[in-house]
Amino acid sequence: EIPDRALLEVRDLRKSFGGVRAVDGATFTVPEGSITGLIGPNGSGKTTLFNLIDDTIRADSGEILLGGKRIETLPSWKRAHQGLGRTFQITRLFGEMTVLENVVAAQRSFSLGQLGKIAVSGAEARAAEELLEYVGMRAFRDQRAHALSYGQQKLVELAQILMLDPQLILLDEPAGGINPVLIERMGEMIEELNSYGKTFLIVEHNMQFVLNLCDPVHVLARGRAIASGTPDQIRNDPAVIDAYLGD
Ligand code: ADP
Repeated sequence: EIPDRALLEVRDLRKSFGGVRAVDGATFTVPEGSITGLIGPNGSGKTTLFNLIDDTIRADSGEILLGGKRIETLPSWKRAHQGLGRTFQITRLFGEMTVLENVVAAQRSFSLGQLGKIAVSGAEARAAEELLEYVGMRAFRDQRAHALSYGQQKLVELAQILMLDPQLILLDEPAGGINPVLIERMGEMIEELNSYGKTFLIVEHNMQFVLNLCDPVHVLARGRAIASGTPDQIRNDPAVIDAYLGD
């Protein structure tokens, strides 16, 4: 049997904050073409791992490979250039900019001083509108981002990420803080984008969402992956149940 090609490989990654070993020898892979889930109790290191993967923070040691190439010493913009996209648990839209401007801005590096001076080209606007249409937010294109609900902001963020056409999309709590209808729609979009060739790594507290959508699922505890497998394997793994007791 030929093993799945890993699009992302994390090898013995470590990050401490003072005496706290937030990520403590994490090793796992994200197979190309998969929707991979990353779960674990509070404080197990999920957010820190995402931050290490996209260079929000730098690892103490270990390797991160994207498409077989080492990226752990690259700045975040180069990681993005090599096909890595990420959403955040707390949305990071520019509140004073319109929805359309926010999506277009995803393609560029803006300093705060440049905000409000964006000249949007026709081609950029069309690409952004197409993506807003896809996520169901086209009608809001001229509204300021701060006027949107939290769920609507998440949809705009997804459009932002897609504007960069990444191969691997890291989603931080895609089902968090949104209503059940939108959770279902979010799951459908992820599956559809996956069928178009996007690979996903998803951190999510909503266990049902992860177990319905993701395969493989990696379980993190105390900064390392303690179990990996199909949703069924994860559901029945005593080590996983153990890790969640006391959460
Ligand atoms: P999770 O996302 O799984 O809840 P985190 O990655 O947020 O876990 O946190 C892992 C551990 O690292 C926790 O003990 C947390 O308190 C600690 N930690 C995370 N970020 C910092 C930081 N910037 N400074 C100090 N400790 C941190």
